[in-house]
Amino acid sequence: MNNHRTVAYFSMEIGFEAGMPTYSGGLGVLAGDTIRAAADLKVPIVAITLLHRKGYFYQSLDKSGEQHELPVAWDIDDYLTENDARVSVTLEGRSVQLRAWKYEVTGIGGYTVPAYFLDADLEENSEWDRRLTDYLYGYDERYRLCQEVILGIGGIRMLRALGYTQIERFHMNEGHSSLLTLELLDEEAEKSGRQTVSRSDIETIRERCVFTTHTPVPTGHDQFPMKLVGQVFGPRDDFLDLGDLYSVDLLRRVTGIDGKFSTMEEVWNSGNALNMTYLALNLSGYVNGVAKKHRDVSRLMFAGYEIDAINNGVHAATWVSGPFRDLFDKHIPGWRQDNFSLRSALGLPKKQVWEAHQQAKKQLLLFVNRATNTGMEVDAMTIGFARRATSYKRPDLLFYDLERLKRIGNQKGPLQVIYAGKAHPKDQPGKDLIKQIFDAMEALKGDVKIVYLENYDIDLAKMMVAGVDVWLNTPLPPLEASGTSGMKAALNGVPSLSILDGWWIEGNIEGVTGWSIGPPSLETDDERDRHSDSESLYDKLENIILPHFYNDRELFINMMLHAIAINGSFFNAQRMMQQYVLNAYFR
Ligand SMILES: *Cc1c(COP(=O)(O)O)cnc(C)c1O
Repeated sequence: MNNHRTVAYFSMEIGFEAGMPTYSGGLGVLAGDTIRAAADLKVPIVAITLLHRKGYFYQSLDKSGEQHELPVAWDIDDYLTENDARVSVTLEGRSVQLRAWKYEVTGIGGYTVPAYFLDADLEENSEWDRRLTDYLYGYDERYRLCQEVILGIGGIRMLRALGYTQIERFHMNEGHSSLLTLELLDEEAEKSGRQTVSRSDIETIRERCVFTTHTPVPTGHDQFPMKLVGQVFGPRDDFLDLGDLYSVDLLRRVTGIDGKFSTMEEVWNSGNALNMTYLALNLSGYVNGVAKKHRDVSRLMFAGYEIDAINNGVHAATWVSGPFRDLFDKHIPGWRQDNFSLRSALGLPKKQVWEAHQQAKKQLLLFVNRATNTGMEVDAMTIGFARRATSYKRPDLLFYDLERLKRIGNQKGPLQVIYAGKAHPKDQPGKDLIKQIFDAMEALKGDVKIVYLENYDIDLAKMMVAGVDVWLNTPLPPLEASGTSGMKAALNGVPSLSILDGWWIEGNIEGVTGWSIGPPSLETDDERDRHSDSESLYDKLENIILPHFYNDRELFINMMLHAIAINGSFFNAQRMMQQYVLNAYFR
Protein backbone atom coordinates (compact mmCIF):
# COMPACT_ATOMS: atom_id res chain seq x y z
CA MET A 1 0.00 0.00 0.00
CA ASN A 2 1.28 3.42 -0.91
CA ASN A 3 -0.02 4.99 2.29
CA HIS A 4 2.12 2.63 4.31
CA ARG A 5 4.76 5.08 5.46
CA THR A 6 6.62 4.89 8.73
CA VAL A 7 8.71 8.06 8.56
CA ALA A 8 7.46 11.63 8.11
CA TYR A 9 10.03 14.24 7.10
CA PHE A 10 9.21 17.87 7.90
CA SER A 11 11.08 20.79 6.35
CA MET A 12 10.21 24.48 5.95
CA GLU A 13 11.83 24.31 2.50
CA ILE A 14 12.35 21.56 -0.04
CA GLY A 15 14.09 22.15 -3.36
CA PHE A 16 13.34 19.56 -6.01
CA GLU A 17 13.89 21.47 -9.23
CA ALA A 18 14.83 24.95 -10.36
CA GLY A 19 11.33 25.67 -11.67
CA MET A 20 9.82 25.23 -8.19
CA PRO A 21 11.00 28.16 -6.05
CA THR A 22 10.14 26.35 -2.80
CA TYR A 23 13.63 26.62 -1.31
CA SER A 24 16.13 29.32 -0.45
CA GLY A 25 19.40 27.44 -0.33
CA GLY A 26 21.36 24.65 1.28
CA LEU A 27 18.69 23.45 3.72
CA GLY A 28 16.03 23.06 1.05
CA VAL A 29 18.33 21.53 -1.53
CA LEU A 30 19.52 19.04 1.08
CA ALA A 31 15.89 18.18 1.87
CA GLY A 32 15.23 17.48 -1.82
CA ASP A 33 18.33 15.30 -2.06
CA THR A 34 17.31 13.46 1.11
CA ILE A 35 13.91 12.60 -0.35
CA ARG A 36 15.44 11.49 -3.65
CA ALA A 37 17.84 9.20 -1.80
CA ALA A 38 14.94 7.79 0.24
CA ALA A 39 13.10 7.02 -3.01
CA ASP A 40 16.18 5.25 -4.42
CA LEU A 41 16.55 3.18 -1.25
CA LYS A 42 12.80 2.49 -0.93
CA VAL A 43 12.62 4.04 2.51
CA PRO A 44 8.92 4.36 3.42
CA ILE A 45 8.96 8.10 3.98
CA VAL A 46 6.56 10.98 3.29
CA ALA A 47 7.61 14.64 3.21
CA ILE A 48 5.74 17.73 4.41
CA THR A 49 6.58 21.34 3.57
CA LEU A 50 4.88 24.63 2.61
CA LEU A 51 3.94 25.66 -0.90
CA HIS A 52 5.60 29.10 -1.08
CA ARG A 53 3.43 30.34 -3.95
CA LYS A 54 5.68 33.34 -4.57
CA GLY A 55 8.87 31.54 -3.72
CA TYR A 56 11.82 32.92 -1.81
CA PHE A 57 12.52 35.61 -4.38
CA TYR A 58 13.92 36.14 -7.84
CA GLN A 59 17.21 37.99 -7.60
CA SER A 60 18.16 40.65 -10.10
CA LEU A 61 21.35 42.67 -9.76
CA ASP A 62 21.83 46.13 -11.25
CA LYS A 63 25.10 47.56 -12.60
CA SER A 64 26.39 48.45 -9.15
CA GLY A 65 25.54 45.05 -7.69
CA GLU A 66 22.47 46.27 -5.85
CA GLN A 67 20.11 43.36 -5.28
CA HIS A 68 16.46 43.66 -6.27
CA GLU A 69 13.96 41.08 -5.07
CA LEU A 70 10.96 40.05 -7.12
CA PRO A 71 8.20 37.56 -6.38
CA VAL A 72 8.61 34.37 -8.39
CA ALA A 73 5.84 33.52 -10.78
CA TRP A 74 5.48 29.76 -11.22
CA ASP A 75 2.74 27.51 -12.43
CA ILE A 76 1.95 25.19 -9.56
CA ASP A 77 -0.11 22.87 -11.77
CA ASP A 78 2.96 22.14 -13.86
CA TYR A 79 4.61 20.39 -10.94
CA LEU A 80 2.02 19.46 -8.34
CA THR A 81 -1.38 17.86 -8.09
CA GLU A 82 -4.02 19.06 -5.69
CA ASN A 83 -5.40 16.70 -3.07
CA ASP A 84 -9.00 16.81 -1.82
CA ALA A 85 -8.10 16.56 1.85
CA ARG A 86 -8.70 19.64 4.00
CA VAL A 87 -7.58 20.32 7.55
CA SER A 88 -7.55 23.42 9.72
CA VAL A 89 -5.39 25.09 12.34
CA THR A 90 -6.35 27.88 14.72
CA LEU A 91 -4.39 31.10 14.32
CA GLU A 92 -5.19 34.10 16.49
CA GLY A 93 -8.58 32.59 17.15
CA ARG A 94 -9.40 32.12 13.47
CA SER A 95 -9.80 28.73 11.91
CA VAL A 96 -7.50 28.57 8.87
CA GLN A 97 -8.20 25.91 6.25
CA LEU A 98 -5.36 24.11 4.54
CA ARG A 99 -4.99 21.93 1.51
CA ALA A 100 -2.01 19.99 0.20
CA TRP A 101 -0.40 19.66 -3.21
CA LYS A 102 1.50 16.51 -3.99
CA TYR A 103 4.86 16.11 -5.68
CA GLU A 104 6.12 12.65 -6.42
CA VAL A 105 9.73 11.58 -6.47
CA THR A 106 10.47 8.34 -8.27
CA GLY A 107 13.60 6.44 -7.26
CA ILE A 108 15.90 4.40 -9.49
CA GLY A 109 13.94 1.23 -8.73
CA GLY A 110 10.56 2.86 -9.48
CA TYR A 111 9.57 3.36 -5.81
CA THR A 112 7.82 6.68 -5.28
CA VAL A 113 7.94 9.07 -2.34
CA PRO A 114 5.24 11.72 -1.96
CA ALA A 115 5.97 15.25 -0.77
CA TYR A 116 3.04 17.41 0.31
CA PHE A 117 3.10 21.19 0.00
CA LEU A 118 0.67 22.85 2.42
CA ASP A 119 -1.34 25.74 1.04
CA ALA A 120 -3.54 28.28 2.86
CA ASP A 121 -4.75 30.07 -0.26
CA LEU A 122 -8.37 28.97 0.00
CA GLU A 123 -11.50 31.10 -0.40
CA GLU A 124 -12.70 30.29 3.12
CA ASN A 125 -9.67 32.04 4.63
CA SER A 126 -9.22 35.74 5.26
CA GLU A 127 -7.05 37.72 2.84
CA TRP A 128 -4.19 37.79 5.35
CA ASP A 129 -4.39 34.08 6.08
CA ARG A 130 -4.45 33.27 2.37
CA ARG A 131 -1.02 34.86 2.02
CA LEU A 132 0.55 32.72 4.78
CA THR A 133 1.99 30.20 2.36
CA ASP A 134 3.23 32.79 -0.17
CA TYR A 135 6.77 33.64 0.88
CA LEU A 136 9.56 31.50 2.27
CA TYR A 137 11.23 33.40 5.14
CA GLY A 138 9.19 36.51 4.29
CA TYR A 139 7.71 39.38 6.32
CA ASP A 140 7.94 39.44 10.15
CA GLU A 141 8.00 37.03 13.06
CA ARG A 142 4.22 36.93 13.36
CA TYR A 143 4.04 35.70 9.76
CA ARG A 144 6.84 33.21 10.44
CA LEU A 145 5.23 31.81 13.57
CA CYS A 146 1.92 31.37 11.74
CA GLN A 147 3.80 29.49 9.01
CA GLU A 148 5.40 27.26 11.63
CA VAL A 149 2.01 26.44 13.11
CA ILE A 150 0.85 25.50 9.62
CA LEU A 151 3.94 23.36 9.00
CA GLY A 152 4.13 21.60 12.36
CA ILE A 153 0.54 21.34 13.54
CA GLY A 154 -1.17 21.58 10.16
CA GLY A 155 1.37 19.11 8.80
CA ILE A 156 0.52 16.41 11.34
CA ARG A 157 -3.21 16.94 10.79
CA MET A 158 -2.74 16.74 7.03
CA LEU A 159 -0.80 13.47 7.33
CA ARG A 160 -3.67 12.01 9.33
CA ALA A 161 -6.26 13.33 6.87
CA LEU A 162 -4.30 11.78 4.00
CA GLY A 163 -4.44 8.42 5.72
CA TYR A 164 -0.88 8.15 7.02
CA THR A 165 -1.72 6.48 10.29
CA GLN A 166 1.35 4.30 10.68
CA ILE A 167 4.05 6.91 11.04
CA GLU A 168 6.54 5.84 13.69
CA ARG A 169 9.16 8.55 13.26
CA PHE A 170 8.83 12.29 12.76
CA HIS A 171 12.00 13.89 11.44
CA MET A 172 12.36 17.64 11.96
CA ASN A 173 14.78 19.00 9.39
CA GLU A 174 15.76 22.09 11.43
CA GLY A 175 13.62 23.61 14.20
CA HIS A 176 11.00 25.34 12.02
CA SER A 177 8.71 22.33 12.27
CA SER A 178 9.12 21.61 15.98
CA LEU A 179 5.55 22.63 16.87
CA LEU A 180 4.65 19.21 15.50
CA THR A 181 5.74 17.83 18.87
CA LEU A 182 2.90 19.73 20.57
CA GLU A 183 0.35 18.24 18.20
CA LEU A 184 1.74 14.77 18.87
CA LEU A 185 1.47 15.38 22.63
CA ASP A 186 -2.12 16.50 22.16
CA GLU A 187 -2.86 13.36 20.18
CA GLU A 188 -1.39 11.18 22.93
CA ALA A 189 -3.39 12.88 25.66
CA GLU A 190 -6.54 12.60 23.61
CA LYS A 191 -5.90 8.91 22.93
CA SER A 192 -5.87 8.31 26.67
CA GLY A 193 -9.02 10.36 27.13
CA ARG A 194 -7.16 13.02 29.08
CA GLN A 195 -7.41 16.79 28.72
CA THR A 196 -3.86 17.26 29.88
CA VAL A 197 -0.45 16.09 28.80
CA SER A 198 1.42 13.72 31.10
CA ARG A 199 5.07 12.80 31.60
CA SER A 200 4.54 9.49 29.87
CA ASP A 201 3.15 11.30 26.80
CA ILE A 202 6.42 13.16 26.62
CA GLU A 203 8.40 9.94 26.79
CA THR A 204 6.25 8.40 24.06
CA ILE A 205 6.74 11.39 21.77
CA ARG A 206 10.47 11.54 22.40
CA GLU A 207 10.79 7.99 21.13
CA ARG A 208 9.18 9.04 17.85
CA CYS A 209 10.93 12.31 17.13
CA VAL A 210 14.22 12.92 15.36
CA PHE A 211 15.78 16.35 15.11
CA THR A 212 18.54 17.56 12.83
CA THR A 213 20.08 20.90 13.76
CA HIS A 214 21.76 22.67 10.86
CA THR A 215 23.54 25.78 11.98
CA PRO A 216 25.69 27.17 14.75
CA VAL A 217 24.70 30.72 13.71
CA PRO A 218 22.49 32.04 16.57
CA THR A 219 20.00 33.83 14.27
CA GLY A 220 19.43 30.50 12.56
CA HIS A 221 17.53 29.32 15.65
CA ASP A 222 13.95 30.65 15.71
CA GLN A 223 12.74 32.24 18.91
CA PHE A 224 9.36 33.82 19.42
CA PRO A 225 8.32 36.06 22.31
CA MET A 226 5.81 34.16 24.47
CA LYS A 227 3.47 37.11 24.11
CA LEU A 228 3.35 36.54 20.35
CA VAL A 229 2.99 32.79 20.85
CA GLY A 230 0.01 33.46 23.12
CA GLN A 231 -1.58 35.70 20.48
CA VAL A 232 -1.05 33.28 17.64
CA PHE A 233 -2.20 30.24 19.60
CA GLY A 234 -5.18 32.27 20.71
CA PRO A 235 -7.64 30.90 23.25
CA ARG A 236 -5.61 27.81 24.04
CA ASP A 237 -7.15 25.54 21.40
CA ASP A 238 -3.90 24.75 19.77
CA PHE A 239 -1.56 24.77 22.71
CA LEU A 240 -1.05 21.87 25.02
CA ASP A 241 -2.96 22.02 28.23
CA LEU A 242 -0.53 21.18 30.96
CA GLY A 243 -3.09 22.04 33.59
CA ASP A 244 -2.30 19.64 36.45
CA LEU A 245 0.02 19.92 39.44
CA TYR A 246 3.05 19.18 37.33
CA SER A 247 2.37 21.86 34.76
CA VAL A 248 5.36 24.04 35.48
CA ASP A 249 7.70 21.11 35.51
CA LEU A 250 6.20 19.76 32.31
CA LEU A 251 6.34 23.10 30.60
CA ARG A 252 9.96 23.39 31.57
CA ARG A 253 10.67 19.97 30.21
CA VAL A 254 9.00 20.80 26.92
CA THR A 255 10.04 24.37 26.21
CA GLY A 256 12.99 24.84 28.52
CA ILE A 257 11.49 28.04 29.99
CA ASP A 258 11.75 28.60 33.70
CA GLY A 259 9.65 30.42 36.29
CA LYS A 260 6.58 30.10 38.46
CA PHE A 261 3.38 29.85 36.45
CA SER A 262 -0.03 28.57 37.36
CA THR A 263 -1.83 29.46 34.14
CA MET A 264 -0.84 29.66 30.49
CA GLU A 265 -1.88 33.30 30.66
CA GLU A 266 1.03 33.86 33.04
CA VAL A 267 3.37 32.08 30.65
CA TRP A 268 2.40 34.31 27.73
CA ASN A 269 3.03 37.39 29.87
CA SER A 270 6.26 36.16 31.42
CA GLY A 271 8.64 37.85 29.00
CA ASN A 272 10.07 34.46 28.00
CA ALA A 273 10.63 33.29 24.46
CA LEU A 274 9.70 30.01 22.83
CA ASN A 275 12.88 28.64 21.28
CA MET A 276 12.08 26.18 18.50
CA THR A 277 15.46 24.51 18.79
CA TYR A 278 14.96 23.75 22.49
CA LEU A 279 11.45 22.52 21.82
CA ALA A 280 12.87 20.07 19.29
CA LEU A 281 15.81 19.11 21.52
CA ASN A 282 13.56 18.44 24.51
CA LEU A 283 11.15 16.27 22.59
CA SER A 284 13.48 14.28 20.33
CA GLY A 285 14.96 10.92 21.20
CA TYR A 286 17.65 11.33 18.59
CA VAL A 287 19.40 14.58 17.71
CA ASN A 288 22.16 15.10 15.19
CA GLY A 289 24.40 17.74 13.71
CA VAL A 290 25.48 17.55 10.09
CA ALA A 291 29.26 17.05 10.36
CA LYS A 292 31.51 15.88 13.17
CA LYS A 293 32.76 19.37 13.91
CA HIS A 294 29.20 20.68 13.86
CA ARG A 295 28.23 17.96 16.33
CA ASP A 296 30.98 19.12 18.68
CA VAL A 297 30.01 22.77 18.31
CA SER A 298 26.33 21.91 18.89
CA ARG A 299 27.22 20.01 22.06
CA LEU A 300 28.89 23.16 23.34
CA MET A 301 25.90 25.30 22.35
CA PHE A 302 23.35 22.93 23.85
CA ALA A 303 25.08 21.48 26.87
CA GLY A 304 23.33 18.54 28.43
CA TYR A 305 21.80 17.15 25.25
CA GLU A 306 23.01 14.05 23.52
CA ILE A 307 23.93 15.03 19.99
CA ASP A 308 25.20 12.67 17.31
CA ALA A 309 26.57 13.40 13.83
CA ILE A 310 25.30 12.34 10.44
CA ASN A 311 27.27 13.98 7.70
CA ASN A 312 25.29 15.67 5.00
CA GLY A 313 25.45 14.28 1.49
CA VAL A 314 24.20 15.19 -1.97
CA HIS A 315 22.17 13.12 -4.41
CA ALA A 316 24.82 11.84 -6.78
CA ALA A 317 22.75 11.23 -9.91
CA THR A 318 21.22 14.72 -9.57
CA TRP A 319 24.50 16.60 -9.23
CA VAL A 320 26.78 14.71 -11.62
CA SER A 321 26.94 16.54 -14.95
CA GLY A 322 25.97 14.89 -18.23
CA PRO A 323 29.55 14.23 -19.41
CA PHE A 324 30.53 12.59 -16.09
CA ARG A 325 27.28 10.62 -15.97
CA ASP A 326 28.21 9.10 -19.32
CA LEU A 327 31.72 8.39 -18.12
CA PHE A 328 30.52 6.72 -14.90
CA ASP A 329 27.87 4.71 -16.76
CA LYS A 330 30.59 3.37 -19.03
CA HIS A 331 33.28 2.59 -16.47
CA ILE A 332 31.44 2.21 -13.13
CA PRO A 333 28.09 0.65 -14.06
CA GLY A 334 25.75 0.50 -11.06
CA TRP A 335 27.11 3.71 -9.50
CA ARG A 336 23.60 5.11 -9.21
CA GLN A 337 22.36 2.09 -7.23
CA ASP A 338 25.54 1.96 -5.20
CA ASN A 339 27.28 5.30 -4.76
CA PHE A 340 30.06 3.60 -2.78
CA SER A 341 31.28 2.09 -6.04
CA LEU A 342 32.47 5.56 -7.05
CA ARG A 343 35.53 4.64 -4.98
CA SER A 344 36.81 2.91 -8.10
CA ALA A 345 36.96 6.27 -9.90
CA LEU A 346 40.72 6.11 -9.36
CA GLY A 347 40.83 3.76 -12.33
CA LEU A 348 39.00 6.08 -14.76
CA PRO A 349 40.98 6.87 -17.93
CA LYS A 350 42.58 10.24 -17.25
CA LYS A 351 42.22 11.58 -20.75
CA GLN A 352 38.47 10.91 -20.74
CA VAL A 353 38.08 12.50 -17.32
CA TRP A 354 39.77 15.67 -18.55
CA GLU A 355 37.62 15.67 -21.68
CA ALA A 356 34.41 15.25 -19.67
CA HIS A 357 35.48 18.13 -17.46
CA GLN A 358 36.27 20.29 -20.49
CA GLN A 359 32.78 19.63 -21.81
CA ALA A 360 31.14 20.65 -18.53
CA LYS A 361 33.37 23.71 -18.43
CA LYS A 362 32.44 24.71 -21.97
CA GLN A 363 28.74 24.48 -21.13
CA LEU A 364 29.21 26.75 -18.12
CA LEU A 365 31.38 29.29 -19.94
CA LEU A 366 28.98 29.43 -22.87
CA PHE A 367 26.26 30.37 -20.40
CA VAL A 368 28.51 32.86 -18.59
CA ASN A 369 29.66 34.57 -21.75
CA ARG A 370 26.14 34.90 -23.10
CA ALA A 371 24.88 36.33 -19.82
CA THR A 372 27.77 38.68 -19.13
CA ASN A 373 29.78 39.16 -22.34
CA THR A 374 33.06 38.74 -20.45
CA GLY A 375 34.76 36.41 -22.92
CA MET A 376 35.80 33.82 -20.35
CA GLU A 377 38.21 31.28 -21.79
CA VAL A 378 38.10 27.52 -21.55
CA ASP A 379 41.86 27.23 -21.11
CA ALA A 380 41.98 29.63 -18.17
CA MET A 381 41.86 28.30 -14.63
CA THR A 382 38.41 29.06 -13.28
CA ILE A 383 37.36 29.32 -9.66
CA GLY A 384 33.73 28.99 -8.56
CA PHE A 385 32.12 30.52 -5.48
CA ALA A 386 28.36 30.28 -5.01
CA ARG A 387 26.34 30.26 -1.84
CA ARG A 388 24.17 32.59 0.22
CA ALA A 389 25.77 36.03 0.37
CA THR A 390 26.17 36.65 4.07
CA SER A 391 28.94 37.93 6.32
CA TYR A 392 30.19 34.69 7.84
CA LYS A 393 30.72 33.12 4.41
CA ARG A 394 33.20 35.92 3.59
CA PRO A 395 32.78 35.97 -0.21
CA ASP A 396 35.12 38.99 -0.20
CA LEU A 397 38.08 37.15 1.33
CA LEU A 398 39.56 36.64 -2.15
CA PHE A 399 39.69 40.43 -2.54
CA TYR A 400 41.50 41.26 0.67
CA ASP A 401 44.62 42.33 -1.23
CA LEU A 402 43.71 43.34 -4.77
CA GLU A 403 47.28 44.09 -5.80
CA ARG A 404 48.44 40.64 -4.81
CA LEU A 405 45.53 39.01 -6.60
CA LYS A 406 46.36 41.03 -9.73
CA ARG A 407 49.98 39.89 -9.57
CA ILE A 408 48.94 36.27 -9.17
CA GLY A 409 46.55 36.54 -12.11
CA ASN A 410 49.17 38.11 -14.34
CA GLN A 411 52.17 36.03 -13.34
CA LYS A 412 50.70 32.61 -12.64
CA GLY A 413 47.34 32.83 -14.43
CA PRO A 414 45.21 33.50 -16.32
CA LEU A 415 42.67 33.27 -13.55
CA GLN A 416 38.89 33.72 -13.82
CA VAL A 417 36.30 33.67 -11.05
CA ILE A 418 32.57 32.99 -11.22
CA TYR A 419 30.36 34.13 -8.35
CA ALA A 420 26.68 33.66 -7.59
CA GLY A 421 24.40 33.78 -4.56
CA LYS A 422 21.44 35.62 -3.06
CA ALA A 423 21.43 37.72 0.10
CA HIS A 424 18.41 37.41 2.36
CA PRO A 425 16.20 40.51 1.77
CA LYS A 426 16.76 41.66 5.36
CA ASP A 427 20.52 40.95 5.41
CA GLN A 428 21.95 44.39 4.56
CA PRO A 429 25.58 43.37 5.22
CA GLY A 430 25.03 40.41 2.87
CA LYS A 431 23.72 42.75 0.18
CA ASP A 432 26.67 45.07 0.71
CA LEU A 433 29.02 42.14 0.14
CA ILE A 434 27.60 41.63 -3.33
CA LYS A 435 28.26 45.28 -4.09
CA GLN A 436 31.81 44.94 -2.80
CA ILE A 437 32.38 42.05 -5.18
CA PHE A 438 31.09 44.23 -8.01
CA ASP A 439 33.60 46.92 -6.96
CA ALA A 440 36.42 44.37 -6.91
CA MET A 441 35.32 43.16 -10.33
CA GLU A 442 35.76 46.68 -11.66
CA ALA A 443 39.12 47.16 -9.95
CA LEU A 444 40.48 43.88 -11.32
CA LYS A 445 39.36 44.46 -14.90
CA GLY A 446 42.14 43.48 -17.31
CA ASP A 447 43.90 41.39 -14.65
CA VAL A 448 41.40 38.81 -13.40
CA LYS A 449 38.07 38.17 -15.10
CA ILE A 450 35.25 38.02 -12.59
CA VAL A 451 31.50 37.67 -13.01
CA TYR A 452 28.62 37.60 -10.56
CA LEU A 453 25.71 35.62 -11.97
CA GLU A 454 22.14 36.52 -10.99
CA ASN A 455 19.56 34.37 -9.29
CA TYR A 456 21.56 31.38 -8.06
CA ASP A 457 19.31 28.31 -8.19
CA ILE A 458 19.55 24.54 -8.60
CA ASP A 459 20.19 24.66 -12.35
CA LEU A 460 22.88 27.31 -12.06
CA ALA A 461 24.43 25.33 -9.20
CA LYS A 462 24.54 22.21 -11.38
CA MET A 463 26.39 24.08 -14.10
CA MET A 464 28.79 25.80 -11.75
CA VAL A 465 29.88 22.90 -9.53
CA ALA A 466 30.71 20.86 -12.62
CA GLY A 467 32.14 23.55 -14.87
CA VAL A 468 34.76 25.30 -12.74
CA ASP A 469 38.23 23.92 -12.02
CA VAL A 470 38.38 24.69 -8.31
CA TRP A 471 35.53 25.21 -5.82
CA LEU A 472 36.25 27.94 -3.27
CA ASN A 473 34.77 28.20 0.23
CA THR A 474 35.86 30.78 2.80
CA PRO A 475 33.55 30.62 5.86
CA LEU A 476 34.47 31.93 9.27
CA PRO A 477 34.94 28.87 11.50
CA PRO A 478 33.03 27.35 13.19
CA LEU A 479 29.94 28.80 11.49
CA GLU A 480 29.72 26.53 8.43
CA ALA A 481 27.83 23.55 9.84
CA SER A 482 28.51 21.41 6.80
CA GLY A 483 28.36 23.05 3.38
CA THR A 484 27.22 20.88 0.51
CA SER A 485 28.19 22.61 -2.71
CA GLY A 486 31.77 21.35 -2.37
CA MET A 487 30.37 17.80 -2.25
CA LYS A 488 28.55 18.44 -5.52
CA ALA A 489 31.81 19.70 -7.00
CA ALA A 490 33.71 16.63 -5.75
CA LEU A 491 31.26 14.31 -7.54
CA ASN A 492 32.22 16.13 -10.74
CA GLY A 493 35.93 15.77 -10.07
CA VAL A 494 36.28 19.39 -8.94
CA PRO A 495 38.61 19.76 -5.94
CA SER A 496 37.86 22.27 -3.19
CA LEU A 497 40.01 25.07 -1.86
CA SER A 498 38.43 25.74 1.49
CA ILE A 499 38.71 26.87 5.07
CA LEU A 500 38.85 23.86 7.39
CA ASP A 501 35.28 24.00 8.64
CA GLY A 502 32.13 21.88 8.26
CA TRP A 503 32.47 18.89 5.95
CA TRP A 504 35.86 19.96 4.66
CA ILE A 505 37.57 19.03 7.94
CA GLU A 506 36.66 15.46 7.04
CA GLY A 507 36.85 15.78 3.26
CA ASN A 508 40.24 17.42 2.89
CA ILE A 509 43.34 15.41 2.24
CA GLU A 510 45.84 18.11 1.44
CA GLY A 511 47.01 17.99 -2.16
CA VAL A 512 44.94 14.85 -2.77
CA THR A 513 41.24 15.85 -2.67
CA GLY A 514 41.87 19.60 -2.61
CA TRP A 515 43.53 22.24 -0.43
CA SER A 516 42.91 23.92 2.90
CA ILE A 517 43.02 27.64 3.65
CA GLY A 518 44.58 28.59 6.99
CA PRO A 519 44.83 26.43 10.08
CA PRO A 520 41.96 24.51 11.67
CA SER A 521 40.50 26.74 14.36
CA LEU A 522 37.58 27.53 16.59
CA GLU A 523 38.47 31.19 16.67
CA THR A 524 35.97 33.87 15.85
CA ASP A 525 36.22 36.90 13.65
CA ASP A 526 38.95 39.47 13.90
CA GLU A 527 41.09 41.31 11.41
CA ARG A 528 44.08 39.08 11.96
CA ASP A 529 42.10 36.01 11.04
CA ARG A 530 40.95 37.65 7.86
CA HIS A 531 44.48 38.73 7.04
CA SER A 532 46.12 35.37 7.65
CA ASP A 533 43.32 33.45 5.94
CA SER A 534 43.59 35.59 2.82
CA GLU A 535 47.39 35.26 2.82
CA SER A 536 47.00 31.50 3.01
CA LEU A 537 44.47 31.59 0.17
CA TYR A 538 46.84 33.62 -2.04
CA ASP A 539 49.80 31.38 -1.16
CA LYS A 540 47.93 28.26 -2.18
CA LEU A 541 46.76 29.79 -5.44
CA GLU A 542 50.12 31.28 -6.35
CA ASN A 543 52.49 28.53 -5.30
CA ILE A 544 50.49 25.35 -5.61
CA ILE A 545 47.18 25.41 -7.44
CA LEU A 546 47.90 27.57 -10.49
CA PRO A 547 51.32 25.94 -11.10
CA HIS A 548 49.75 22.48 -10.86
CA PHE A 549 46.90 23.42 -13.14
CA TYR A 550 49.12 24.86 -15.85
CA ASN A 551 52.34 22.87 -15.48
CA ASP A 552 51.44 19.50 -14.05
CA ARG A 553 48.13 18.55 -15.62
CA GLU A 554 48.71 14.89 -14.76
CA LEU A 555 48.83 15.69 -11.05
CA PHE A 556 45.78 17.93 -11.31
CA ILE A 557 43.74 15.18 -12.99
CA ASN A 558 44.90 12.77 -10.33
CA MET A 559 43.38 15.06 -7.72
CA MET A 560 40.15 15.14 -9.70
CA LEU A 561 40.00 11.35 -9.50
CA HIS A 562 40.60 11.43 -5.77
CA ALA A 563 37.86 14.04 -5.28
CA ILE A 564 35.40 11.58 -6.84
CA ALA A 565 36.78 8.40 -5.30
CA ILE A 566 37.30 9.63 -1.76
CA ASN A 567 34.67 12.35 -1.34
CA GLY A 568 32.05 11.58 -4.01
CA SER A 569 31.76 7.99 -2.79
CA PHE A 570 31.05 9.12 0.79
CA PHE A 571 29.52 12.62 0.87
CA ASN A 572 26.40 11.53 -0.98
CA ALA A 573 22.77 11.39 0.14
CA GLN A 574 22.60 7.62 -0.26
CA ARG A 575 25.14 7.07 2.53
CA MET A 576 23.44 9.83 4.53
CA MET A 577 19.98 8.23 4.23
CA GLN A 578 21.36 4.82 5.18
CA GLN A 579 22.76 6.38 8.35
CA TYR A 580 19.46 8.10 9.13
CA VAL A 581 17.64 4.80 8.74
CA LEU A 582 20.06 2.83 10.91
CA ASN A 583 21.10 5.39 13.51
CA ALA A 584 18.12 7.72 13.76
CA TYR A 585 14.85 6.25 12.46
CA PHE A 586 15.12 2.61 13.48
CA ARG A 587 17.81 2.77 16.11
C1 LIG B 1 23.93 23.18 -2.85
C2 LIG B 1 23.23 24.48 -2.90
C3 LIG B 1 23.33 25.39 -1.84
C4 LIG B 1 24.13 25.09 -0.61
O1 LIG B 1 25.50 25.26 -0.80
P1 LIG B 1 26.48 25.44 0.44
O2 LIG B 1 27.81 25.09 -0.05
O3 LIG B 1 26.02 24.47 1.49
O4 LIG B 1 26.36 26.84 0.91
C5 LIG B 1 22.65 26.59 -1.93
N1 LIG B 1 21.91 26.90 -3.01
C6 LIG B 1 21.80 26.06 -4.05
C7 LIG B 1 20.96 26.45 -5.21
C8 LIG B 1 22.45 24.82 -4.03
O5 LIG B 1 22.32 24.00 -5.07
